[in-house]
Amino acid sequence: MQLENYIRDIQGFPKEGILFKDITPLLIDPLARKKCLNILLDSLKGQQIDKVVGAESRGFFFGILLAQELNAGFIPVRKPKKLPFKTLSASYDLEYGSASLEIHTDAIQRGDRVLIHDDVLATGGTAKAVCDLVEKLGGEIVQCNFLMELTFLNGREKIKNNPIFAALTY
Ligand code: AMP
Repeated sequence: MQLENYIRDIQGFPKEGILFKDITPLLIDPLARKKCLNILLDSLKGQQIDKVVGAESRGFFFGILLAQELNAGFIPVRKPKKLPFKTLSASYDLEYGSASLEIHTDAIQRGDRVLIHDDVLATGGTAKAVCDLVEKLGGEIVQCNFLMELTFLNGREKIKNNPIFAALTY
């Protein structure tokens, strides 16, 4: 079974010029999903993880599966004004303008060993913002992992201080 067969390319979504990597065929198939999860888990080589932080929204799917397998807490990082409790916010640049992400201030304890997860590493802006939030709360980043890395966008440069793993690269 080839994992890449479960990623569907959608040209021009959500806007022209973007080749969208659709993970819904992967989510729908239990065996492919399990294989993908095992690849991500193997990359951690049994390292202790206290918290898995998933980026809204496609980072939630495998983020929660990883947390379950690792017997770790799961923490959602969300777009502004979605989290109900006290939050910490980090901004990052987009092609036009900027965006921000939020985390609950009590989500991470100082010294927690944290795995950061998202579906796609593209320009790295999202992952960098998540790393900033985790570090501000005193978390120790063990790895940033992704289902896919779009290497031509060089996103890993923005988070190069951390170990990075992607199940698939393009
Ligand atoms: P970036 O901040 O540029 O690294 O973008 C990463 C975020 O945008 C991830 O949360 C992805 O879900 C989403 N994303 C960026 N590019 C793509 C793409 N080509 N296909 C699917 N999702 C993408």
